[in-house]
Amino acid sequence: MRQPETIRQAIKALSKLPGIGQKTANRLVFYILSQHRELGQEISDTLLQACTSIHLCPECCNFTDTDLCPICTDAERNRNIICIVESASDVEAIEKTGVYHGLYHVLHGSISPLRNIGPNDIHLKELFNRLLQNPAISEIILANNVGTEGESTALYIARLLQPSGIKISQMAHGIPVGSNLEFADEVTLGQAISNRREIERPGS
Ligand SMILES: [Zn+2]
Repeated sequence: MRQPETIRQAIKALSKLPGIGQKTANRLVFYILSQHRELGQEISDTLLQACTSIHLCPECCNFTDTDLCPICTDAERNRNIICIVESASDVEAIEKTGVYHGLYHVLHGSISPLRNIGPNDIHLKELFNRLLQNPAISEIILANNVGTEGESTALYIARLLQPSGIKISQMAHGIPVGSNLEFADEVTLGQAISNRREIERPGS
């Protein structure tokens, strides 16, 4: 039996999401169509609204619906320190620990030669421009995810920043290898950021 084109298109679109294969997409579309059409409408309305109203903060590249994000405009934050993370959900995870009061920079990914993602494909240019324009920034915390890609991205940034004289520190151990920051519990993540260690400079 041939499926109606609209159903096939919905399944095809959903299956493009990470972690959702053809089978799950199929199940979700039929779940919504069979008895949860209001939910289907709600999902499409809210996603459409988010996609049209949310942009990247020109300072830190986090998602925001205001000109600058609330963290960048918060006068209470320590403006001399920037924590570099891979995703917006990492900002949320670190904020929940309550131990960090500096600013952030969201890369939206990590460098991955295997997946063909180079330094220009993540928001590094914005970070370096930001550092050039804000000489008061004295410390960078590298909070990339633990794992090959996250670590090589952190190393790449550390190497580029070394001549600048900015203190570069990295999250302390405690984050399980291969896991994303957003999945670490608040205590572990809080300790990791509090016990961050400075990255040693070659030759020093
Ligand atoms: Zn911001």
